[in-house]
Amino acid sequence: MVQAMINTKLMQAVQDMIGELSTSLGEDKLSIDKPTRLVYRITHGPEALLHESLDDFTPAAIVRPTSTEDVQTIVKLADKYEVPIVPQGGRTCTYGAEAIRDCIVIDTATMDKILEIDEGSYRITAEAGVRVVDFHRYLEERGFMCVDFPTMNKAATLGARAALNGYNKFENRWGSSGYHIKGLEVVLPNGEAVWLGRGTSAPTKSVVGLNMMDLFIGSRGTLGVVTKVTERFIDMPPSYHYGIRAFKDYEDGLKTYIDLRKPLNAGLLWRSKVYHKWFLSQAVKGMLEIDFPDDVEMLVDYHILGEPDVVEQMEKHAIRIMEDHNGFWRDDMPPTDIIGRMHETIEKYMGMGGLWSDRIINGGMANRIIPLDPMIPDSKLLEYYKEYLKLLREIEDGESYPALTDSMKVLNPAGPVPGDVGYSKIWILLLANWNKWDNETRKEFKDWFRRHAELALRFDGSITGTHGFIPREMEVELVRKEVGEKTYEFMKMIKKTIDPKNIMNPKVRF
Ligand SMILES: Cc1cc2nc3c(=O)[nH]c(=O)nc-3n(C[C@H](O)[C@H](O)[C@H](O)COP(=O)(O)OP(=O)(O)OC[C@H]3O[C@@H](n4cnc5c(N)ncnc54)[C@H](O)[C@@H]3O)c2cc1C
Repeated sequence: MVQAMINTKLMQAVQDMIGELSTSLGEDKLSIDKPTRLVYRITHGPEALLHESLDDFTPAAIVRPTSTEDVQTIVKLADKYEVPIVPQGGRTCTYGAEAIRDCIVIDTATMDKILEIDEGSYRITAEAGVRVVDFHRYLEERGFMCVDFPTMNKAATLGARAALNGYNKFENRWGSSGYHIKGLEVVLPNGEAVWLGRGTSAPTKSVVGLNMMDLFIGSRGTLGVVTKVTERFIDMPPSYHYGIRAFKDYEDGLKTYIDLRKPLNAGLLWRSKVYHKWFLSQAVKGMLEIDFPDDVEMLVDYHILGEPDVVEQMEKHAIRIMEDHNGFWRDDMPPTDIIGRMHETIEKYMGMGGLWSDRIINGGMANRIIPLDPMIPDSKLLEYYKEYLKLLREIEDGESYPALTDSMKVLNPAGPVPGDVGYSKIWILLLANWNKWDNETRKEFKDWFRRHAELALRFDGSITGTHGFIPREMEVELVRKEVGEKTYEFMKMIKKTIDPKNIMNPKVRF
């Protein structure tokens, strides 16, 4: 009864807000028709699998601002009517951009202008809706490179990179999105627009004052709407070498990976990645129709970029490390260029192209990737890996989780990729057959997920990094566990201070 009254009050507030929005912004920037609202409901992320009805995600309206002033108008009205807002970029994230029933979605993709470049100082400023791919192209045409390079760069937006503190394939060398971002314009929940840097409003400086920009890096739209971003970039490296070796057991493979990215090497080696046979045998068969050799358990690769003479020296060093751990290469291995581009090709094909699904023939729901990526300290990587493989096998063994076995596959078991020095992100991809998910599957998945989270925390890891997917109903409990009671309460205090009416993406984190 009380809930019904709250819902009715919210619906009325939303209608009043939409009325004012259409007058102040103009009807062409506003959509309230059902087909559009359905398109903006969910993201690429798995949360939708856990709900019986997608109505939970249907927004009341979508607004498409073209300036900071437009965003201010929207946010001021949301503040006045106390209506939830969800900012969206390309909606490719694993968690955070899903709409909420009766919310207003701000589609930032219409704020797509590059505003200023200072080539001598390696700084560029652009609007939040610029797609990463267009940003890259703009810099490349001028002989530069942006090193924040996410897989889904064709849809991902710059504002969302800030809101997620995204992971990129060169994190080992250059750090996550937050390292490249030097300034942000943010519209706060009270409608004010502020320009933030680290301890200053200028684009770069070591922190002496309060580091307010970093509150918004990784905040997932819970504190404000990012409207402009200043980033650093680099000169395009003239030389690029790629190499790969096979290992007969994963211990050798993991030791190689850890040695390759020791701090002294990390300054020169741009990336190293690990591929387990569980993934390779499916991927190589699915894409190339060839069998992956039985006696090879792991592949480890490296990418080195820079001046030609430095790259050459570094590559000799990388090969020596690989050979010290029994790394080798043979003619019966799959083509190396395919492995090196696997992140951009096979995983996407397997997840979205509809492998194990009849979507391409009959339409309807596709299979859905569930990416998980706990961060684990390198000192505990081997031990964690051993236990995690066992937990993953339970998904497919048919006994531990019968409903899951019937509706989910492990695409990529734990594949470490570099995080900050001394830490790895463990890249795990599960593939869910959405058509088969019922309440029993949901229950089993949540149970399995809890064990996955507890395992990472037991090894001093984190489950809130990069994609950071945690089922909504478990999020507060698991985040509290990871960061500790007092830290969580401190975060809540900051959220309440900045967003006292809880209008900014209110289903996320708090
Ligand atoms: C196959 C696959 C591979 C992926 N690989 C990577 C990878 O390598 N690295 C990586 O980091 N991620 C990866 N992702 C996740 C995702 O694609 C990226 O993080 C991407 O940068 C998200 O951008 P987006 O514009 O789609 O964000 P969205 O999904 O639209 O939004 C993400 C979050 O940011 C908030 N947000 C968006 N715009 C704003 C704004 N202007 N102001 C405030 N909040 C905002 C949203 O509310 C949401 O919480 C991958 C996803 C898939 C499906």
